[in-house]
Amino acid sequence: MGKYGQHIREDKSVLTEPRCPFCRALFERPAEVSTTLGYFSGGTCCCGAVFSYDPSRKNMGEAFMDALVYACNEDWDIAMSLESGKDFEEKFVVYKENDHSLSSKAVSNNPKDRIVNMIFVKLKNQQTK
Ligand SMILES: [Zn+2]
Repeated sequence: MGKYGQHIREDKSVLTEPRCPFCRALFERPAEVSTTLGYFSGGTCCCGAVFSYDPSRKNMGEAFMDALVYACNEDWDIAMSLESGKDFEEKFVVYKENDHSLSSKAVSNNPKDRIVNMIFVKLKNQQTK
């Protein structure tokens, strides 16, 4: 699908406020989120989206699973049964930790964009905690 990722550039001029790609609310700096399996770096938006931050960008698959499982109240069976696009949506962004900002051109649905370092996951049928 497309070559969107290739247009992404690191450019200070396109830095923007750290807003959730789903609801546009400002989100907090990533913090250690405690789970039954350990920790991940991320947080939860007021809209229910869970975000996971991987500064190394090397374990985005894990970061994604952390966010998805956390969004499912850490129920792996539920998390594994969900389908992208049907049961949940994910967005990939480039987060600049030093500035607590996002690169505005880098919101993407393509996990193969190697520059992305933060994932937002939002369940479509949000379950109440
Ligand atoms: Zn949100």
